[in-house]
Amino acid sequence: MRGIGAFTGSRHFRLNEVTEGVFAAIAVPGTGSLGNATIVDLGDETLVVDTFTTIQAAEDLQAAAEYLTGRKASYVINTHWHSDHTCGNQVFVPAAQIISTSITREIMDTFVRNRITQQLAKPEAIYDAIDELDEQIQRETNEKLRQEMQWDNASDREYMKMLPDLVYSLPNLTFDQHMTIHGSKRSVELITFGGGHTQSDALVFIPKDRIAIMGDLVLSKHHPVLMYANPQQWLDILNKVEQLDIEIIVPGHGEVCSLNALHEVKDYITDLLEIVTDAAQRNQSLDEITVPSAYQEWFFTTYFKSNLQSMHEWIKKIRKS
Ligand SMILES: [Zn+2]
Repeated sequence: MRGIGAFTGSRHFRLNEVTEGVFAAIAVPGTGSLGNATIVDLGDETLVVDTFTTIQAAEDLQAAAEYLTGRKASYVINTHWHSDHTCGNQVFVPAAQIISTSITREIMDTFVRNRITQQLAKPEAIYDAIDELDEQIQRETNEKLRQEMQWDNASDREYMKMLPDLVYSLPNLTFDQHMTIHGSKRSVELITFGGGHTQSDALVFIPKDRIAIMGDLVLSKHHPVLMYANPQQWLDILNKVEQLDIEIIVPGHGEVCSLNALHEVKDYITDLLEIVTDAAQRNQSLDEITVPSAYQEWFFTTYFKSNLQSMHEWIKKIRKS
């Protein structure tokens, strides 16, 4: 096994050696990675967590795994079903076992597969959206937002370019609560406490190194994405994660961080819940709400409006039930 040395990453990601044998592949914005991935040397085998959005980015990830550990990945974990964590799976089969929760696999097999079929049948719908965003970018005066919109569009273009070659590959091993993979040098625990960011979210905990690879349950200095979320369950899950002995977090997006990032995600969800509840009570339109100052420097600003909407829908739903 070797350190990063000359291989510092690719156009899709930058490598960060979290500890000896654990490497975070931090996404370069506007490319086919979109989310982060992680390479873990188990001693006798290699494990990869999440597989990026495009085949090309995933090929770079496999190349990094081979360079850093001397072997291809034999385990791949999908923390949740989102495309930027699963679309590169095909690069790793048949050599690797692909593992997720059973709910994540079910959603990949139904909802995601259907969506990909539709995207292939009507690519012009997505290209129209890309063109429309291009026009918005021309009009946008906020430089940071403009940059982020450009990144969104660049990543979408890479995804669309790849789409005809995509063989969406499903996990072949599933678990419902907990699974341990025992390596000769370190063991990893795959854990799910249910669904928060999506209907089912898993994390990868490495007890020996006190590292948690969190998928999108924790993002660092990025707006968490609430589109498919259950905010209350998300908070409950993070409270449980806090009980684990964690020192370092590899987030789904953003730089390697500490438990502080987990606390910031909890604050964000709590703040949004309060903001949207207040707005409803005062009959204020969600369009009038601007990003709170605490989160103005964060990335994924383009998700803020849809997060308000998702929170609003969720509050309506729980009031009814
Ligand atoms: Zn996600």
